[in-house]
This record gives sequence, structure tokens and C-alpha cells, in this order.
Amino acid sequence: MCSLSIQLPEAYVRQMRELLGGEEAERFLASYGQPRTSGLRLNPLKLDPQDAAPLKERFGLEPVPWCPTGFYYAEETRPGKHPYHAAGLYYIQEPSAMSSAELLEPQPGDIVLDLAAAPGGKSTQIAGKLQGRGLLVANEIHPARAKALAENIERLGIANAIVTNAGPDQLEKTFPGYFDKIMLDAPCSGEGMFRKDPDAVLEWSPAHVQMCAARQLDIARSAVRMLKPGGRLAYSTCTFNEQENEGTIERLLSEFPQLKLEKTERIWPHRQRGEGHFVAVLVLEAELAPPPGPERPTRQTGRPRNAAGRRAQASRPEEEAMRLFGRFAKDNLAGGADLLPPGEPLLFGDQLYWLPVGEGAVFSPALLQGLKTPRPGLHLAEVKKGLARPAHALALALPREDAALRTIRLSSDSEEVHRYLSGESLTLPVLSTGSGWTLVTVDGFPLGWGKHSEGQLKNHYPKGLRRPAPHR
Ligand code: SAM
Repeated sequence: MCSLSIQLPEAYVRQMRELLGGEEAERFLASYGQPRTSGLRLNPLKLDPQDAAPLKERFGLEPVPWCPTGFYYAEETRPGKHPYHAAGLYYIQEPSAMSSAELLEPQPGDIVLDLAAAPGGKSTQIAGKLQGRGLLVANEIHPARAKALAENIERLGIANAIVTNAGPDQLEKTFPGYFDKIMLDAPCSGEGMFRKDPDAVLEWSPAHVQMCAARQLDIARSAVRMLKPGGRLAYSTCTFNEQENEGTIERLLSEFPQLKLEKTERIWPHRQRGEGHFVAVLVLEAELAPPPGPERPTRQTGRPRNAAGRRAQASRPEEEAMRLFGRFAKDNLAGGADLLPPGEPLLFGDQLYWLPVGEGAVFSPALLQGLKTPRPGLHLAEVKKGLARPAHALALALPREDAALRTIRLSSDSEEVHRYLSGESLTLPVLSTGSGWTLVTVDGFPLGWGKHSEGQLKNHYPKGLRRPAPHR
């Protein structure tokens, strides 16, 4: 073991001395004795640039050079604990990890896949760039991580994303040649995580690196097969390892002559303010030959299944559910149901979702057939006993407080906002707008629902998201 403030494996130190050489390697190794960098990315779906000034002051934000919405924050300001975090105004993300979605360059209207998406750093950044137009399929292979991904997509108020829980080989069968842009932030040996995550140091070994490289090539092959001709793929890792970075890209280029390498970029902790990242951008210049073997199955029709394997119901109950949701929207939302992107309703049991289909309805429910979809679009409501109860995700997807007819504005400095987030009922002045579903906001930014009646607000903040109010 090398004696630095982090105990690095000898083989790793040797590898980095060979890769960087001389004085540069020593500067790199010395970076392990320095504090790690922390960053957050402002959510352009919720914040106009002029809204950002108070946040910059509150959290001591300084710009990240390679990401216009990215900032370093002062550690002691703890933005992850602030009610603005619950309102989805930003996403806490290691600064160098912000580079790959910038290089992918998603444009409003694009059909984008994030193939290894949890917990959602790149997905939320991509959705910010889509500006509510087009479609994002955010996929994660591990079920528990897919749930965390879905929560982050909801928190940031993203309406045009579908969360799937599938392996790349399964996804590839559904979406051959389908996407304009693909993000593959591959599972890796995490050499750039050593300052942040001591477990990554313990897990590291030359054999682990080899296993990661083989897995990366497998996943990257699936990614290439899901690109449209002309489509872009951003391959990224948080490791410095050449075998996993340049090595994977070289092998991919030799297997797919239709691929062109546009650029590669590396962020180093001794050269930039970031933990370290590798990104390669590849463009598929021509169509791939169809895979050998029997003819491809035609796309299945029928209704998709949710994470528990329940099949979505046929269209008549969906019409009825939308009628009930329409009634809720008329009574409680300022713009009725107009806020929804192009899409169609999907009903899983009594849960109503709005499946985004992209401009020109390029997506359809039949494509989700056979795939687990923990979030088949925006969760609108639970429909039961002839009533629609609004979903938490709907509150977070509303643009501002004036999108609801009844609202309560809590100050970010108040005790009440923490009591609301902890699940307590609140006593309030009687609202002139009467009783019923009420949008609770922090300084005007939606946080969740409550039900108001005669000065009492029954708390509908989801149980799984509640947290103890801090002692004052
Ligand atoms: N892109 C994410 C973000 O920005 O928040 C981080 C992704 S993390 C680097 C890699 C992800 O790949 C993990 O969520 C992990 O569960 C997933 N993964 C692990 N094995 C995989 C496999 N064989 N195929 C696809 N994804 C895999």
C-alpha cells in the first residue's frame, strides 16, 4: 500500500505512474491528500436565470467551467438538506460528471436513451436540455436503483421521461436503431471515486478492472445497436483506467466500422476542480446491418407491464380515468390539463400515468410491452371510487404556484416548511379559495399536496420522502 491520506493499492499507484509519468504522476497522487469537490446543477425546468441569484448567495455557488448550469458549492451550506432540494430546484452532482451530457448535446425534440441511468445525474441534465420536448427513456438494470432514479425524475418535475428497468440486451430487442442520442455512463472500477467512496478503493484490483472492461464492451455494443444512423453516443466513466476508457472505445470502433470517434475528453483532479471523468463521443455514420439469424420479431402490440409485472388496462378504463382526472384538473389547476406534453393515458391498476410520445407520436405504449417500467411517464393520479387523487409527481411537474387554484406559500426560512416535509398537518389562515386540494410551495416552488379545510391542512407529502423536522 502507498502511504497517502488514502491507502491506495500498490498496483494502482504503479499503473498511474506508468500512465502519467514523472512529476505529473506525483501531482496526481498528491491530489488524494486534498479535499474532494462538491457540486450541484440548477434545474432549468424550474429556475429562470434571474431566480438563481439568491441560491448563488445562499450556497456560495461558483461556476463549473464545462457546464453552464453547474456550480461548486460551499460544503457547510448543505444544499441537500434545504427545502429547495425537495422542490427539485437542483441536483447534487460531482462536477466532473457534468461533462458528458454537455458533450452529448441533446436538443429539444430529440429521442434520447440514458442506458445506465440511476440515480439520475445525467438523465436530469439531459431532461433540462430537452426543455419538455421530445422524449427521454431513462433505464436502470437494478430494481432498487431504478426506484431512486424514478424519484429523482419526479423531484425535478420531468414530464417527458419514461423510467425502465431492463438489461441492455433486453432493451436492444425493443429499440433497434431507435434513438437520436444515447448516454452510456458505464459501470466502472471507479478510480475517480476514491476520494468520495472508500469502498471503491477496497473493490479495486487488476482483475476487477478487466471484468469492468468486458462488461463495458457488452453494454456499449447494445448502445450502438440502438442508435439511429446519424445518432450520437456519449460513453463516459468515472475511472482513469485506459483499458476501460480508450481500450473499450478502440474495441468498439474495430467492431463497428460505421462508428466515428468525434472526440474524447478527460478531467483530472490535479488539473481541474473535479474528481475525474472520461467521455468519448461517437457518431453512427451509416445504418448497421441487421443482426444474423431468424427475422427480427415484429414489434409486439398490447399493453405494457409495470415494475410488479401488472399489465396496463385497455383503453375504456383509461378514458374513464382521464375523465376523472379532467374533473380534478378543472376544479384544482389553473390551466386544466393543458400542462401535459404530447402523450396518452396509461392505467396500471388504479394508478394513472401520462405516457409521453414525443413530437409526431414517435413512441407508443406497445413499445413498452414486456419491459418493466417503474414510471411509464408522468404519474398523474390515483383513481378510485369515482375520484382522482393527485400524484406527488404532478405537484412537482407544475411550473409554479399559479398553476394551481389553491396554494400555500411557505417561506424557505420558516419552521412550517420543515414541518410540512416531516409529514405534520399545519394550521393556517382560512383560504379565500375554499377547501380542497392545495399546492404547498416553498417560496412559490411546488413541494407537494395538502388538503385544506377550515384552516387545517392535511398533509399529503409522500410517507417515503418524509424526514424529521430539525430541532430549532
Ligand atoms: N448515470 C448515472 C448518474 O449520472 O447518476 C450513474 C450511473 S453508474 C456510473 C452506472 C450504472 O450502471 C449503475 O446504476 C449500475 O447499477 C448500472 N449497471 C451495472 N451493471 C450493469 C449492466 N450490466 N448493464 C447496465 N447497467 C449496469
